[in-house]
Amino acid sequence: MNTTVSLSQQAIELEDKYGAHNYHPLPVVLAKGEGVHVWDVEGKHYYDFLSAYSAVNQGHCHPRIINALIEQAQTLTLTSRAFYNDKLGEAEKFICDLFGYDKALLMNSGAEANESAIKLARKWGYQVKGIPTDQAVIVAVERNFHGRTTGIISASTDPDSRNNFGPFMPGYQIIPYNDVIALEEALKNPNVCGFWVEPIQGEAGVFVPGDGYLKKAQELCTKYNVILMMDEIQTGCGRTGKLIASNHEGVHPDMLILGKALSGGTYPVSCVLTSDEIMLTIKPGEHGSTFGGNPLACAVLVESLAVLMDEGLIDNAASMGELFRDRMNALKDKCEHVTLVRGKGLLNAIIIKPTADGRTAWDVCMKLMENGLLAKPTHGDIIRFAPPLIITEEQINACCDIIEKTLLEF
Ligand SMILES: *Cc1c(COP(=O)(O)O)cnc(C)c1O
Repeated sequence: MNTTVSLSQQAIELEDKYGAHNYHPLPVVLAKGEGVHVWDVEGKHYYDFLSAYSAVNQGHCHPRIINALIEQAQTLTLTSRAFYNDKLGEAEKFICDLFGYDKALLMNSGAEANESAIKLARKWGYQVKGIPTDQAVIVAVERNFHGRTTGIISASTDPDSRNNFGPFMPGYQIIPYNDVIALEEALKNPNVCGFWVEPIQGEAGVFVPGDGYLKKAQELCTKYNVILMMDEIQTGCGRTGKLIASNHEGVHPDMLILGKALSGGTYPVSCVLTSDEIMLTIKPGEHGSTFGGNPLACAVLVESLAVLMDEGLIDNAASMGELFRDRMNALKDKCEHVTLVRGKGLLNAIIIKPTADGRTAWDVCMKLMENGLLAKPTHGDIIRFAPPLIITEEQINACCDIIEKTLLEF
């Protein structure tokens, strides 16, 4: 064996040889995490500015969440929904009270929560709104990201998400994002049961809609008797400086879809929250998931949300986010490669102008990695910055120093 091959290189080659090539990771192999910090297999330290796409809002291996996980894992992990368990009702009550809904449907991945939301919207469309059989339409927007199932990618406008995965599921109408005129036109169709949207488009590159868009969307949904289906899987759980991003405009979605940070990054937990009128259209035997709502997921969900509230992480996201954008805007004035800074709370992005010799946001992220900060480029020229919400002022300044140094040298 070639002894000059590093531990990192070995791990990368192993994944490359035996794993599906469905991601293009930065060449860093992580072995340990704590709070905002991660370490690679060689022991090099990094600040995590991706937070597993906002699943680790509470920070890596949060002691309270890990304790809840261990305790429940030693007691009862899975019963299936064929029986009741002593944790599900408690978790449902906790999440309904916190977010202000009648009922919760617990699933595992974000994609499953969105699939559940689609099924609920359609059921309600037929049973309550009176849409003729198989005619229901869900209005979705350009550049959306809701997950990877065939039903969900049928509404995608991203060629990479769709190419050679057809045939696609019918029943969508796609309109531009942030366009209330197009929305009103679409909702006039009496067969529309739901408007499915992210309050900020995370995967698309942190696109923040104009002020009032969400409020207007809610008004139009009410006017045309359409369910506002808000996908807050990435933006919920304090990420944008409010409990959910809809709260920036005082919007209470008819249906709220959550995932990612519901478990602080320890275990897949997702859910749909909605009213009795909508949730009770689905009857026993019509929808389900073996692992959905299992006791382990429930214990972790309650503790993760309790940590978010007890530690003041939502307010911290708001204030650290402002500090971060102030520093990035100051950098933009000094550095020709930064052309735009946008975001809310601790969900932010900068746009990188490629260098004359063709270096891009990917190369910036490689340099950031060398300098001890992990972030991922998206769509060529965008870098998303989303550290855990527990980040302190001192840490965020240290991280802004790294970003500044990296970009000024670029
Ligand atoms: C990540 C994400 C999803 C998909 O969640 P998975 O757990 O990866 O299935 C859906 N919607 C949004 C807005 C997301 O950011």
